[in-house]
Amino acid sequence: MAPKEVLDLHICIIGAGMGGLATALALAKQGFRHIEVFESASTLGFVGAGIQLAPNMARILDKLGAWSDIEREAVDLKDTSIRRTRLSIIAAQTTTDNQTEGSTDQELGHVDLQYIRATYDYPHMVGHRSSLAGSIYNACKREKAVNFIFATEASDMKSFGPNPSFTALPRKSGGEPYPVTCDVLFAADGVKSLVRDQMLRLHNVSAKIVDTGQAAYRIMLRREDMANDPELLELIDRESVTRWIGEKRHIIAYPVSNKTIYNMSTVQPDLHFAAAPSATYTTKGSKPQMMEVFGDFCPKVRRMLDLVPDGEVCEWKLRVHEPLPFWVVQQTALVGDACHPTLPHLAQGAAQAIEDGAVIAVVLAKLPEVSPEAINKALRVYETVRMARAYTLVELAAASGRAMHLGEGAAKEERDRQFAALKGGKGPVPDKWADADVQRMIYGQDVMKIAEEEFETIYAKL
Ligand SMILES: Cc1cc2nc3c(=O)[nH]c(=O)nc-3n(C[C@H](O)[C@H](O)[C@H](O)COP(=O)(O)OP(=O)(O)OC[C@H]3O[C@@H](n4cnc5c(N)ncnc54)[C@H](O)[C@@H]3O)c2cc1C
Repeated sequence: MAPKEVLDLHICIIGAGMGGLATALALAKQGFRHIEVFESASTLGFVGAGIQLAPNMARILDKLGAWSDIEREAVDLKDTSIRRTRLSIIAAQTTTDNQTEGSTDQELGHVDLQYIRATYDYPHMVGHRSSLAGSIYNACKREKAVNFIFATEASDMKSFGPNPSFTALPRKSGGEPYPVTCDVLFAADGVKSLVRDQMLRLHNVSAKIVDTGQAAYRIMLRREDMANDPELLELIDRESVTRWIGEKRHIIAYPVSNKTIYNMSTVQPDLHFAAAPSATYTTKGSKPQMMEVFGDFCPKVRRMLDLVPDGEVCEWKLRVHEPLPFWVVQQTALVGDACHPTLPHLAQGAAQAIEDGAVIAVVLAKLPEVSPEAINKALRVYETVRMARAYTLVELAAASGRAMHLGEGAAKEERDRQFAALKGGKGPVPDKWADADVQRMIYGQDVMKIAEEEFETIYAKL
């Protein structure tokens, strides 16, 4: 355990998303005693959506004592099935029945995922976001060191160090703004990060939010609504991730919450946010429009989309950010989507935010002394351990999206050949999260161990 004066550092965290929660819990587990988390929402504000729980996330949460509750409700994946929505040229040549374009639910590729638990010590599971965030939050609440300040927005960064400070704005009426000063500040304030913007401005860096041109519908179907349709029941009963892919669009779906809910997340060209102000990230979608966008997907998919009640279609803008040249200024560091937002195609955004929090706690606990210089160097060890890995995965997620969204042509034929070759044995999987080499790179790395082992060498060089 770190010396007393290190553990007495006053640490503030802005944002109680996956990154902020994991950072707070990891710090408390390392023995830090004064951790304050400022969250602008009045509660955790759970998004009704599923989330993939990859082994690299599970390994960390298990070390932090938050995994068993999540695992209890999550679904342990056996496999993934990638399905085409239209007959491709190859399929059309080999298909004997009279399927028309758009009617097919034919399997393009199939990948077994059961080897993952034996290889990486943790399974690849899928769960509900509220279960993931709620379990980390509950674990934080069991730690006396962590204090949550909800309904309070951090605004107006006054200083990034040596004593970072900002103004806290309570949202309740009559709440007076007050200054907050700490020894170390973590900005886990999401893709729209105010702290990042102010940091970049200070250094005349103009890295921008990138419009991906993609948007997503996030849908949760109740088991009872699928109960009268044997084909849909079969989907919710399988421990499987199914991905239906088509030109510029796909749908990923899996059961969560002990198979009581079927989670669907779509990706389609962004037609509705393009004209909206950049602050807009979610909007109420139109069901007829959703049905039209996926009008050429197979009937099974369309029946599921049709189960979404009118008025309950929610569309998300998918935005990312240009890579940043740094994540740390003085005694302030960025965490999670604030510094490496990603497209969801690799299912690693939250996992990477959790890796950030775990590494932060390891490096701060290794501080050899309490001084602004030492804190800054420890934060830069965090940046060194994390930055290249996080940005590699951001790029890989974008590449996977490009491969899945191919239109007719040679590139798509090659992709479909790769999918088809999986039936005969091993080979590259164009849907990258299911690729064994990608999984080795992502799941096989224990970032806490790396931070432990490499801290002194990196620290000495800074
Ligand atoms: C469609 C979709 C599917 C996804 N699927 C997966 C998946 O399967 N697996 C996975 O690992 N990841 C997935 N992700 C990514 C993942 O959801 C995000 O990467 C992750 O939630 C980021 O966490 P964060 O804590 O960095 O940011 P956020 O979750 O955005 O949290 C930021 C928090 O900060 C608060 N905040 C912001 N500004 C302030 C302020 N000024 N003061 C106080 N509080 C503030 C916000 O209210 C929020 O609570 C998916 C994303 C999308 C869009």
